[in-house]
Amino acid sequence: MIPVRAYAVQDARSPLAPFQFERREPGPRDVQLEILFCGVCHTDLHMIRNDWGFSPYPLVPGHEIVGRVVRVGSEVKKLQVGDLAGVGTMVDSCRTCRNCQDGLEQYCRVSNVMTYGGREKDGRTVTQGGYSEAIVVDEHFALKVPSNLDPAAVAPLLCAGITTYSPLRHWEVGPGQRVGVVGLGGLGHLGVKFARALGAHVVAFTHSERKTQDALRLGAHEVVVSTRPEEMAAQADRMDFILDTVSADHDVNAYLELLKRDGHLVLVGFPAKPLRVSAMPLLSRRASFSGSGAGGLPETQEMLDFCGEHGIVSDIERIRIQDVNTALERLEKGDVKYRFVIDLQSLR
Ligand code: NAP
Ligand code: ZN
Repeated sequence: MIPVRAYAVQDARSPLAPFQFERREPGPRDVQLEILFCGVCHTDLHMIRNDWGFSPYPLVPGHEIVGRVVRVGSEVKKLQVGDLAGVGTMVDSCRTCRNCQDGLEQYCRVSNVMTYGGREKDGRTVTQGGYSEAIVVDEHFALKVPSNLDPAAVAPLLCAGITTYSPLRHWEVGPGQRVGVVGLGGLGHLGVKFARALGAHVVAFTHSERKTQDALRLGAHEVVVSTRPEEMAAQADRMDFILDTVSADHDVNAYLELLKRDGHLVLVGFPAKPLRVSAMPLLSRRASFSGSGAGGLPETQEMLDFCGEHGIVSDIERIRIQDVNTALERLEKGDVKYRFVIDLQSLR
């Protein structure tokens, strides 16, 4: 076994603190990464607090991982020692069900293993995430990282990036469409960049007035401050597609009313409480209300390659792991531009 230094929470109320655990020795198809950077996703905050009711403790969060390959098993083909590699929200799945065969491992119903807070296929070992110095993962769940991008700013692409890219691609967002992105956080700011790069007319919706200039800088053509009724009313019946990234309870009906006939609102944010959806804005425009979860391995690689070609990375604030509790407090207040990324060098 490999001893690993990390930061963990012991229960839903305590701060993250130094923690040691063990990872498996790499098997024939495994790669071992020295973790360089890990993004701080709002999901980490939900899981630390047990917002969804299934967090196991101790919990080492982190599923936006970029590392250097330091060991490879005898059958590994995709990666070599010295390569940069990424790990996102999953570290295993059944590999045989229809969803896995379709490269949509995130929807595996048989044994989808989350990067942290999940259970390995042995049914016992609890997975631990990237707020740690090393990870061992099957090469199928490791991604190649484009060499022309800043590896720290690539880390958030492994969750926030693919979670926004996947629905934009699935619903074929592109030129001639008016696309809304709701919430300018880790996910939302990348959603704006992707929708712009895909050729859409992008409207950013924020409840934070102070973010309007940033929204334009990030690529939005228009910004709507959602707390101003006249600005919301001006967008009524005008959107082809809306990507909702909001982490907290909010009124989705206000956004459904902005859709054109046959428009789509896709939820990627994961508020702790169920949302209230009214029938009227849906049936009066034949609109659809959908959800989307992260992305499969082939599409995650496609997204990273797309970012390499288009020079897309996350806007980040680099932090030391010793400052992670302050960063989480700031994330909760929406005070981050636009993703904290932990430099794991600070743990060594
Ligand atoms: P984040 O950086 O905290 O951004 C969330 C944004 O939501 C904030 O920046 C804010 O944008 C808006 N917001 C927050 N509180 C609000 C409120 N009370 N009313 C209205 N707007 C509010 O979080 P994130 O990392 O992007 O994650 C967003 C959500 O996606 C989380 O729930 C996370 O768990 C979920 N998630 C889902 C998946 C998936 O597979 N579907 C993957 C990753 C994350 P403005 O200030 O611009 O309004
Ligand atoms: Zn995430």
